[in-house]
Amino acid sequence: MQRWLFLLFMALSLPSFSQQRCASRQPANGLEPATPANPSPAIESRSLITIPLVVHIVWYGPEENLTDEQIQSQLEVLNEDFRALNSEIASVPGPFAGDVADMEIEFCLVAVTRTQASFPNIADLYSGGRRRVCHNGLGGHDAIDPGHYLNAWVSARNDGACGEGTFPDDPLVPADEQGIFIRPDCFGTVGTAAAPFNLGRTTTHEIGHYLNLKHLWGEGLEDPLCQSDDMVEDTEEQAYSYSEFTSGSCPVHPSFSCGTADMFMNFMNLPADRCMSMFTNGQKERARDAIQAFRPGLLESSCLPVALETAPEEEEEPSLLYNPVSSEIALLLPQKDKYEIAIFDAAGRLVFRNPNASGTPHSITSSLFINGIYYIKIRNGRKIHVKKLIIAR
Ligand SMILES: [Zn+2]
Repeated sequence: MQRWLFLLFMALSLPSFSQQRCASRQPANGLEPATPANPSPAIESRSLITIPLVVHIVWYGPEENLTDEQIQSQLEVLNEDFRALNSEIASVPGPFAGDVADMEIEFCLVAVTRTQASFPNIADLYSGGRRRVCHNGLGGHDAIDPGHYLNAWVSARNDGACGEGTFPDDPLVPADEQGIFIRPDCFGTVGTAAAPFNLGRTTTHEIGHYLNLKHLWGEGLEDPLCQSDDMVEDTEEQAYSYSEFTSGSCPVHPSFSCGTADMFMNFMNLPADRCMSMFTNGQKERARDAIQAFRPGLLESSCLPVALETAPEEEEEPSLLYNPVSSEIALLLPQKDKYEIAIFDAAGRLVFRNPNASGTPHSITSSLFINGIYYIKIRNGRKIHVKKLIIAR
């Protein structure tokens, strides 16, 4: 009876997500990379691993330009959560107490970069298949030596998610876009950190993904319940993400799904920050295997502060925020001055012109145009950019 009531409650509450924590793309089970059978001596002789962290603050509104204090508060959370030193450990239910792991992973901050973006919500925007926030020339900041440092980009995003982490060995993610992506109001514990994601657990969770840990419920909520797993033995199968526990009280043990009590307080679930408390021994083994197999450079790096090179500024090009366009044409015009914009149809006829466009993103309503292919000419002083534009409503 209890289980039925619980399932009913979950079913009723699932569609009403108002907050979403994690947008990480999990590789399918079929692509599960083989982890090495024999740990190398390097990792055996070194039980405590210290991962150097680079934080890139890429801000638009001044409130997104987080203080050093807020960054430091996130570091403190990581060094508690990955050493099982967080205060919530005390409230782990008895049946799970023996599963609690000290991951023996610590973090040191080696660099902070600060970049003012010329348009909002850059963290999940792409240009020509490249993730803007990860590149100097696209409005973000280049990764620093991603083979040796964990790069964290702290920046606002369009999809409402608090964060995202890249899995190791994901063929779709280039090396210079590997790391974690955290929304500023989900980062750290002070300043702009906002409840229910104000205890720094989004970063803990996304680093879990970066170290190959999956969500406890497996691949995705669209899968048949209890049909996929996180590939870790001591986290029993579960059906739900617990993401609806963001306001009010935390889930109560025992909460059953898939025939066992769920470890809802595991960091790889999605309840409010205050409801999360532990990694398991199985997750520890999987994460440390992943470091050895896929991110061995982390073991060779040091905590010495990284001297930031002042690279010559790459000038950012104007670009289309979305293409094909279905509602409005949004142009990113990175320089402060005015642009001349002209749009031509496929036959070369001028169909739109604005000699004094400014502001970014700059919008032109697409209802002026019928569906089809156009060419947009963007002139700033002597520089002219021509881009193909597709209107498809
Ligand atoms: Zn996640």
